[in-house]
Amino acid sequence: MSQLSVGKENSQRILSTPSGDRPTASKIVFLDIETCPSLGYVWAKWNTNVIDFEKNWHLLSFSYKWMGEKEAHVIGLIDYPTYEQDKEDDKALVADLWKILDKADIVIAHNGDDFDLPKTNTRLITHGMKPPSPYKTVDTLKIARRVFKFDSNKLDELGRYLGVGRKLPTTGFHLWRSCMMGDPNAWNTMKEYNKQDVLLLEQVYFLMRPWAKSHPQVNQGELLACPKCGSLKVQRRGYSFTAFRKKQRYQCQECHGWFEGQAVSVTIPKKKEERKCQKKSLNKGM
Ligand SMILES: [Zn+2]
Repeated sequence: MSQLSVGKENSQRILSTPSGDRPTASKIVFLDIETCPSLGYVWAKWNTNVIDFEKNWHLLSFSYKWMGEKEAHVIGLIDYPTYEQDKEDDKALVADLWKILDKADIVIAHNGDDFDLPKTNTRLITHGMKPPSPYKTVDTLKIARRVFKFDSNKLDELGRYLGVGRKLPTTGFHLWRSCMMGDPNAWNTMKEYNKQDVLLLEQVYFLMRPWAKSHPQVNQGELLACPKCGSLKVQRRGYSFTAFRKKQRYQCQECHGWFEGQAVSVTIPKKKEERKCQKKSLNKGM
């Protein structure tokens, strides 16, 4: 796992490249995890409750791609020497995922806020690990739900609607079961499937990024850089107003997102007494 050996050193950050060729200061990673199902007892097939769990789920594999990197990486349980002895031991895999999260400033995942990241946290604490250094998240599912109205917000469907690709087909649960049984061919398919998810996620993210209502700042303090992609190619495009302030509005010429600069003028509301005095003097003058 040589690609995981890079420590989080703020002074030696590998600069990542957004949609253009301008590197950002933030380390941004695309992530997708695959888990196996839990094993439980049920009384019936349909509309039933699980009576008890025999075995809890664990991590099978994860795929990640640093923004600006050409290749996506994927690691599965089968890649570890301990796999022969124990096909369910995900401790080393989870530890390697911890290193990715610890290094990242921003983690991008589809349904990551409700699935990939809390699932990962569950395995981290189960193995007695401490939290990685804080990171911000972008969840493309949340953007899809908040900004658009697609027929389906599944990553596969979004990729199809937007014309940037599909998920790889699988044999469904059969593939997961075969991996859990240790079938190397099934593992190859699973890893390719996992990797394609990250590549598709990246494409969907780039299309959705300018539409996102909120996005973590990638520029780390550069006031006039685009907060979404870090580009300095920004144009002044009018102003935004509230009751008390006026802000310069900008459009990024690389990712085409919009953002606001600092307030250019502020109207301080008068105090009640001042307004009364002003009213009295006006009345006297009449
Ligand atoms: Zn931008």
